[in-house]
Amino acid sequence: MKMDRRSFLQSSASAGIGLAVTYGTSALDAAQPSTTVRVRLIRHATCVIHYGARTLLVDPMLGDQGTMPPIARSPNPRPNPLVPLPLPAAGVLNGVEAFLVTHTHSDHWDAAATELVPRDAALLIQPPDAGKFANWGFSAAQSVTGSVAWKDLTISRTGGQHGRGAVGERLAPVSGFVLSGRGQPTLYIAGDTVWCPEVAAAIESHKPDIIIVNAGAAQFLEGGAITMDVDDVVEVCRAAPRARVIAVHMEAINHCVLTRSALRAGLEKAAVTPPVLIPADGEELRLG
Ligand SMILES: [Zn+2]
Repeated sequence: MKMDRRSFLQSSASAGIGLAVTYGTSALDAAQPSTTVRVRLIRHATCVIHYGARTLLVDPMLGDQGTMPPIARSPNPRPNPLVPLPLPAAGVLNGVEAFLVTHTHSDHWDAAATELVPRDAALLIQPPDAGKFANWGFSAAQSVTGSVAWKDLTISRTGGQHGRGAVGERLAPVSGFVLSGRGQPTLYIAGDTVWCPEVAAAIESHKPDIIIVNAGAAQFLEGGAITMDVDDVVEVCRAAPRARVIAVHMEAINHCVLTRSALRAGLEKAAVTPPVLIPADGEELRLG
């Protein structure tokens, strides 16, 4: 049984690494020495993913605190981002080999990203955004329709719903990505989506070992949550009881009303196991 080959270890070892998850030995692990996955939350949905020998950056929002207006028609209007980057943008970009861009709302790809990401950087994007990246002059943006091979990885695109009903239709399209590699844990980045059939299908078909969900219960003044609330995250955990779920996309943009502590409390009440990992900005999770 899959779980028997793993041991989950929580530690609070070194500064900046709040939690670690260690995979035990398996036939695959024994044959493949490089099974380490590290996920460092930068801020909001921006994460550095160290996947084996590769380094990727998800959804760069690199602007300074307070440099964007509040989201229109949303609760708690305050300038965005609400918090600074935990390190300079140049440091975030250092060593990044490819960028995964789930969609181009300004909290996932901002003006600073357009300015700072090198024009010849490898970008993996959803097909409807291809024209935008071409106009901005990015020469190596690759649309992912189904799956693509990138270096020694396979990168697959997944679907999602950025809200329910009319609001979800208005904010579409959005994507997620799945990273897989021989002997590596499968990592599913769900993107800006609520719990929906597309997320269930991605879990069913890819059987991820690690799932990053965008929580925060982002919302406008009407129309309900457009990213995951407590119940959505619980649904993900129940659909993937063997996966480590990481929740990001909180406390950085004004319309995200669900805080880390409220999510933690809600998940404790739902008795979700293993516990969802909720990193602080700048915190790195070591998985595998
Ligand atoms: Zn978002």
